[in-house]
Amino acid sequence: MSSFPENNRTWQILHEADNGGYAVGAYNCYNTDSVMAVVRAAENKRSPAIIQLFPWTLHFQGKHFIKFVIEYTHSASVPIAVHLDHCIQPEDVDLALSLPVPFDSIMVDASTLSPEENIRTCKSYVERATALGICIEAEMGRMEGGEDGLPHVDMKTILTKPEEAESFVRETGVHFLAPSFGNIHGAYGPGGAEKAWDLERLRKIHAALPHLPLALHGTHPVSDELFLESIKCGMRKINLNRTVRDGYTQFIAENAGKLELTVLSMRGVEVYTNGVERMMDVLGSSGKA
Ligand SMILES: [Zn+2]
Repeated sequence: MSSFPENNRTWQILHEADNGGYAVGAYNCYNTDSVMAVVRAAENKRSPAIIQLFPWTLHFQGKHFIKFVIEYTHSASVPIAVHLDHCIQPEDVDLALSLPVPFDSIMVDASTLSPEENIRTCKSYVERATALGICIEAEMGRMEGGEDGLPHVDMKTILTKPEEAESFVRETGVHFLAPSFGNIHGAYGPGGAEKAWDLERLRKIHAALPHLPLALHGTHPVSDELFLESIKCGMRKINLNRTVRDGYTQFIAENAGKLELTVLSMRGVEVYTNGVERMMDVLGSSGKA
């Protein structure tokens, strides 16, 4: 029997990806269609996966929905972890840590606080989460922007300093790190992510923490080539939201009211599944489970 964190699902998935030099998609899900699509895609592709919920789900759908997602996901024939994305409010982390069926991992986003407060906050949550077998992802520096289910951050970007990355991880004990290197939530400006990202900075962060899985936020849109480049720079958890969701919402928008709800749902899940499968191939996680 392995002990924590080696026995944690998210930890196992991301460290296997690290050993294999590929990345695993962390798919933001908002409803049962999306959860079903990720599970089906993962089983079809024999790929590990991570399902991410926002704190919005804690409040809107509630703990029984989360229990369903975790039990459904963990009963899949391939490893799938359930992660809580961007916990900004301390009461959301407290709520998440009190669930009878716990998340595998939680992102504590204290990036709106000062760097010292960020370290203090992460450290205290790592201690509490560790006792429950839950891994913690933290944001070092600060990313701007917003996405559906996530409050908009209009504070200035703070890029992660590579020379401070190792001490941040050592002092906090966090298991995964989301660096800020020009990536933003929501739409990129002219030139796209190619222009906005400072890959040299990302390489230095990876060099400072060669065995710590990095988490990529701000992926809409990002080209397949740039995803591959980010994997070479240590990205192991790649957050995907609109990239795999837009096809589904478009299909629903065009067909709601025209098809019976059962048919709409089945075909909607199929469209969503295809999008997730495509990304599993791009990230290299297909065939790894
Ligand atoms: Zn994010």
